[in-house]
Amino acid sequence: MNQNTTPQYYIWTIGCQMNKAESERLGSLLEQKGYRPSASADTADIIVLNSCVVRQHAEDRVINKLHNLAPLKKARPELTLAVTGCFIDSSLEQLKRAFPHVDYFFQAGDIPDWLVLRKDERFIPNEVERPSDAGWCQALPQSPPSSVYVPVIHGCDQFCSYCIVPYRRGRERSRPLDEITAEVAELARRGAKEVILLGQNVDAYGHDLPEKHDLADLLAALNRIDGLARIRFLTSHPRDMTAKLIDAVARLEKVCEQINLPVQSGSDEILGVMRRGYSIEHYRQLIVEIRRKIPGIALSTDIIVGFPGESERHFRQTVDLLAEMRFDMVHVAAYSPRPGTIAARELEDDVPAGEKKRRLNIIEELQAEIAGDINARFVGQTVEVLVDGKEKGKWRGRTRGDKLVFFSDRSNCPDMPGLVDIRIEKASPWSLQGKVESRLIGTE
Ligand code: SAH
Ligand code: SF4
Repeated sequence: MNQNTTPQYYIWTIGCQMNKAESERLGSLLEQKGYRPSASADTADIIVLNSCVVRQHAEDRVINKLHNLAPLKKARPELTLAVTGCFIDSSLEQLKRAFPHVDYFFQAGDIPDWLVLRKDERFIPNEVERPSDAGWCQALPQSPPSSVYVPVIHGCDQFCSYCIVPYRRGRERSRPLDEITAEVAELARRGAKEVILLGQNVDAYGHDLPEKHDLADLLAALNRIDGLARIRFLTSHPRDMTAKLIDAVARLEKVCEQINLPVQSGSDEILGVMRRGYSIEHYRQLIVEIRRKIPGIALSTDIIVGFPGESERHFRQTVDLLAEMRFDMVHVAAYSPRPGTIAARELEDDVPAGEKKRRLNIIEELQAEIAGDINARFVGQTVEVLVDGKEKGKWRGRTRGDKLVFFSDRSNCPDMPGLVDIRIEKASPWSLQGKVESRLIGTE
């Protein structure tokens, strides 16, 4: 039980960057309402579960957690329990019956009435407020981390056959360009050095806005913001990635040389059944163009193994594509049927679990070898690192290409060093290690 006078909150987040972004902002709203973060759920006055159901495994974790919280609520009925994220579907009554100890359920991306700030509670200047996303604009962190997520387009219109996200997050809704620009300028003023623009399909940004701005226009506007050093965006869709966007990444100095472009499978047949809307040849051409126009670009992708009907031949096409493309990073997942999706309704989940695991391991081993080779080339080089925290006594940060870097600061300064030049001494498939070469001043 919380013995302090200041009420405390605890947010448990699983899932994608969008969930992390929304949790950061929910936390900020709670802080503006007078709460402070609690080190554990046991001492919190309010607990928010920000959930994910993209695969069955994630959903199981959410359900377990919800059951585990029941005794806590029983012991402390005054505790407020709220659940948000993609676990929340349209059948709220059913959820309330299944989890009667939960006080509030609210949909991913919504701000419930009890979290909306009164005028006297806000520490956000009015100029950042615009009608489209007023609640979220108010939710900017007062002291942002060095790297901040900024949702720019909510929802997804793609309806890939396996994916539950469009059913839980609704249709695409872009935030106005001037609203995002004002918000990022405010974040930079408060000390943020990097923004990561988020969307399930971020390349679709702007198609629904009256001015028809696109992501390249948004990047150009943000590139002009003083104090901001880096801009990233994710997740791109191979069908919507345009030459204009690639040119913008090549041209704008603050936009990092890094693109996440999920391919999902190396087989045209499987891509068709997944309803991804592109062919491997289109994807290959895109990668060739990106690499030609943006030297040093770091590329990552997502893969699903064991999709319905994926034979050994289809799987080998995926392995061959990965060996050919040599991505910096590959996120691989075993197919998991999701209720309500086209694949779950129409296709038999016919690859056995053991076989999915075998395919997943093959890809992970191949990728560890490729990433090990790529990262080894950094040894002896000096890279610019944006520090985002400390881990096991070492500073931790990322390069412009999103490589994780660890280093010890010789001066052992307690403050976050910001941007630093690090000379890389060691590399593994997952991270780089080095020593400080010089401290950079400002954003140059
Ligand atoms: N919008 C992004 C990703 C959103 S979901 C895209 O277009 O790729 C994040 C990742 O989860 C996906 O890239 C996919 O690899 C994985 N995923 C989504 N649904 C899945 C499912 N039913 N089974 C297994 N993996 C899934
Ligand atoms: Fe899901 Fe496809 Fe939308 Fe990505 S693009 S969120 S995989 S439906």
